[in-house]
Amino acid sequence: MNAPVRIAQMEPWFDEKEADALSAYMRSGGWVTEFKKTEEFEDRIRNFTNARFCSVVNNGTVALSVALLALDVRSGDEVIVPDLSMIATANCATMIGAKPVFVDVDSRTLCLDIDQVSSAVSAKTKAVIHVSFNGRVNDLRRLKNWCLSHGIPLLEDAAQSLGSYIGADHLGTVGNLGTLSFSAPKIISTGQGGAVLTQDEKLAEKVRRIKDFGRRQGGIDIHDSIGFNFKFTDIQAVIGIEQMKKLPTRIERKKAIYDRYRKGLADISSIEWIETDLKAVSPWFIDIFVDAPDELLVFLKTKGIGSRRIYPPMHSQKAYNCGGSYPVAERYSARGLWLPSSAFLSDENIDYVCAAIREFYETKKGRRQ
Ligand SMILES: *Cc1c(COP(=O)(O)O)cnc(C)c1O
Repeated sequence: MNAPVRIAQMEPWFDEKEADALSAYMRSGGWVTEFKKTEEFEDRIRNFTNARFCSVVNNGTVALSVALLALDVRSGDEVIVPDLSMIATANCATMIGAKPVFVDVDSRTLCLDIDQVSSAVSAKTKAVIHVSFNGRVNDLRRLKNWCLSHGIPLLEDAAQSLGSYIGADHLGTVGNLGTLSFSAPKIISTGQGGAVLTQDEKLAEKVRRIKDFGRRQGGIDIHDSIGFNFKFTDIQAVIGIEQMKKLPTRIERKKAIYDRYRKGLADISSIEWIETDLKAVSPWFIDIFVDAPDELLVFLKTKGIGSRRIYPPMHSQKAYNCGGSYPVAERYSARGLWLPSSAFLSDENIDYVCAAIREFYETKKGRRQ
């Protein structure tokens, strides 16, 4: 019989700070919907990322769709997306009637292969989405220049990248627009939640209107453009503010966790790692690439350790099933496994996981001899 999982692959982390802040907020007579606390949460995100503008919305998927709408992507248009990502990266286009066009990733970063973008472009291409997979980034400046010279806007899906940088720039602030997610597994969480970042005042105003019925101004029923209701709540913002206060220590801890796994497993030659510069990258999940990830997953489960297979390539998901050949996405998807990655993991937890993985490979070697 399997032991009950004692170390989850990922869990959000809240404590009495969020509980106290929520209790104080509810006693203050707030209207619960978005208002001052939401503004404060947005200010904290702006200050942290150096984005000039930030609008928070229901979740990361909606953030992506709102960003595409702000870029005037409409029904029938095409959006270029990397084949290896969380399905929301494609679904955000599908939701507004546009078509995601998949491009393979490069094996160094697992991000969009910039050299293959040109051949996926058509007259209908209206945006390119770069996903910073696990906080890592491809040559975003080269991609940005390519996009500029072709008149195609760049959207950064930085859902996994709060705390990660390219040079001095926080990810999500290099493209025309960038998005974050605060879903339960992300480095900070508001349960559900997302943000749209931009340095462009005009785009910021479009985003603001799209999330608020196309209104010129709150409380006034004059609508110059089509908008919807993707507003946040101050309840979530109260949690988000406390989470933002914890973000710097979480980033340090995530880096230390990655480093400890990497060193703890350094001698196991069966494990492939993706080059990760911990000065710039705050790894969201601990990702390893091995020959038989399902076997390792089952073995870890018997040790009470949760792990999770990384995403299938999107083109191969039944939801899209559009064929084509994406060898890098296919290879890394077939080999990828996420190890326990919660920010509160102790060094003892990590060492226990490393010991279990070592045992798995030693037993395998023993069987072969
Ligand atoms: C989490 C995630 C999303 C979706 O965010 P939600 O808040 O869950 O809607 C989109 N893209 C990537 C890369 C993600 O990791």
